[in-house]
Amino acid sequence: MKILVINCGSSSLKYQLLNMDDETLLAKGLCERIGSDNGLLKHERGVEEFTIDAPMPDHAAAIKIVLEVLLSKDRGVISDIGEIVAVGHRVVHGGEFFSDSVLIDDKVEKAIEACFDMAPLHNPPNLIGIRACKQNMPGVPQVAVFDTAFHQTMPKKAYLYALPHSLYETHKIRKYGFHGTSHKYVSMKAAEVLGRPYSELKIITCHLGNGASVCAIDRGHSVDTSMGFTPLEGLVMGTRTGDIDAAVVPYLMEKEKLSASQVIDLFNKKSGMLGLSGISNDFRDILQAKQDGNTHADDALEIYFYRVASYIGRYAAAMNGVDAIVFTAGLGENSALLREKVCAYLGYLGVKIDPEKNAQRGKAMDFSASGATVRTMMIPTNEELVIARDTKTIVG
Ligand code: ADP
Repeated sequence: MKILVINCGSSSLKYQLLNMDDETLLAKGLCERIGSDNGLLKHERGVEEFTIDAPMPDHAAAIKIVLEVLLSKDRGVISDIGEIVAVGHRVVHGGEFFSDSVLIDDKVEKAIEACFDMAPLHNPPNLIGIRACKQNMPGVPQVAVFDTAFHQTMPKKAYLYALPHSLYETHKIRKYGFHGTSHKYVSMKAAEVLGRPYSELKIITCHLGNGASVCAIDRGHSVDTSMGFTPLEGLVMGTRTGDIDAAVVPYLMEKEKLSASQVIDLFNKKSGMLGLSGISNDFRDILQAKQDGNTHADDALEIYFYRVASYIGRYAAAMNGVDAIVFTAGLGENSALLREKVCAYLGYLGVKIDPEKNAQRGKAMDFSASGATVRTMMIPTNEELVIARDTKTIVG
């Protein structure tokens, strides 16, 4: 059973074609500069890489080119479009409408549209991608997999903000949480690596990429997470502030003569590690700068480690204990230093790491030292696989 996974951004489109009989990746790629005459498709088939220039006036045109490549003799992996049994779409915001993945119909499309205001950068292109696939593959089932769905199990005490209740009722202002597919995947994988039932474990997952969030998973259910109404809340991120006193907004508006949307833009795009270090949003550049003696870079790193460790402590308290702490995504998977520095705060919980194991890369691993009572693990995330699995289950 071949399933196409689509992750559509405003001017980009990522895809993977998976054979879900054995969960192997057949091909993957990325369309960039959609909306222009000089679109670019980077396509990978195993170790082979192809770059294709083509006009991509819209997402429907981009999907058409992707399908042509997948079907082509010299670069493709299928001989008939009918081999694609279903398409799974990443959709960022499902609001309170969706607590699981769904088969897309008109009602689902309307609900995705109803969440536009809450995810203006993500949901509109996600829906465009769905419609473009329907146009190019009529009759093929389309499934939506939401970043927010996994967190719909959070209790009220975790998701309600201390605002007048009427504002929740009228505008649905609450914590939703994101990166749900990643938190779900790595926590399930952690249980597998530990050889213990998922339904018995208390796990804290740290998805640390450009966007970053921590999640408390109590016996298979997300009970709290650090991102909120939007992906701005929580940890310090590449360019995002994470938690900040809301009173800073009007203060900055007045002192810097900014509009509300300019302040939010500042919080989303110019803050975080980029803002603190004044150098880059990329951890590797900041580490290099620290080595070169840059004190702002040093401060940025210390703040980052501290905030991650603080959230882990908070969620260990929320669940009255923790069995495993899992690191994933760009930073969580690749930076042994980050894992070491965060874990250095957590000795009181029973965390004890083995530096040699922690230095390994690439594969899922438990880098706890003997005697540790809380396991520490690195698990590479695979959001596309979760999307393909959910799609397979739904069209099953
Ligand atoms: P996104 O949220 O865009 O999907 P990723 O999960 O790919 O992001 O993470 C990208 C980030 O991971 C980079 O900005 C960089 O900070 C960090 N990163 C990637 N590789 C390394 C590495 N070897 N050492 C430290 N940080 C890394």
